[in-house]
Amino acid sequence: VGRLTVFCWHNVHPTWCFPAPPGRGRVGLEAQLRALTRWAHVVPLEEGLDALRDGRPLPSRAVAVTFDDGYRDNLTDALPLLERLGVHATIFLVPDLLSRTVRPWWEVLGWAVFRARAPRVEFGGLHEVPADPGARRPLLERLLTAVKALDARAREEALDALVVALAPEGDAGTEAMFCDWDDAARLAAHPRVGIGSHSLRHVILANETPEAQHRDLATSRRILEERLGVPVRSVAYPVGDEAAYSGRTVEAARAAGYAYGLSTGQRRNGAGVHPHHVARWVMSPERGTSGFLTLVRPAERAVRKRLRALRPSRG
Ligand SMILES: [Zn+2]
Repeated sequence: VGRLTVFCWHNVHPTWCFPAPPGRGRVGLEAQLRALTRWAHVVPLEEGLDALRDGRPLPSRAVAVTFDDGYRDNLTDALPLLERLGVHATIFLVPDLLSRTVRPWWEVLGWAVFRARAPRVEFGGLHEVPADPGARRPLLERLLTAVKALDARAREEALDALVVALAPEGDAGTEAMFCDWDDAARLAAHPRVGIGSHSLRHVILANETPEAQHRDLATSRRILEERLGVPVRSVAYPVGDEAAYSGRTVEAARAAGYAYGLSTGQRRNGAGVHPHHVARWVMSPERGTSGFLTLVRPAERAVRKRLRALRPSRG
């Protein structure tokens, strides 16, 4: 039957949480997508997962491309690349981010830390804010870990308190950073794009009650299908690691009508994969093509062998 390797990107251009030198993201993503088209077979995510489920064969080195969160550069930068290279991608969207009724808490926190004017912040202990913004990454990681342990309501309160305490300069600018519903409609209408759900409000599902998880996932799917006019059969659990979703999340996803649930983790998905525990490798455009080496190496060997076999004997 074969195996399916799923990759997960987020932003293309640098953001507060994912800084990079200007221009690197676009160049990096293009190199990565080109490497995939050369060395692997990109299939639409749900086609690949349906084939695994039904025991139908997949092409060798089958991979699927996904993006989470709905960063606006998925439309402005990734989509033209997908089109040019003939690559299909599934984009996992968050309805309340599209509606601007919830904040992308990780980016707001990134802004508050990197633009902080306060010399220290009290949050589960007293943290110094390094004078050099370039030295503030460990502080951001500590604060992100702390707010990820909270449920949605407590996290919103913590975020308000942290923004006040850190006293950042300017504005987080997150509205320009993320797609709105018009952008989402343009993505959904494109033949190279599939749409999935990334929850209603980008909550960490495992921290919510089973009822709240079900309500969130069912509402997200219904709103995306109604407003975008496309089927939504997959959910990518926000944050996606082992702590971010649970058995209750899987039950909620199934009850809400999702055929597939995706987490993160460096595994290839084989024939017996649980449809609501599909693993994805998290990629960033700056990471080069090294994440693909496990795919590329066997291919290179096979190509070299074939070339040797074709070479006329000089005997
Ligand atoms: Zn996310």
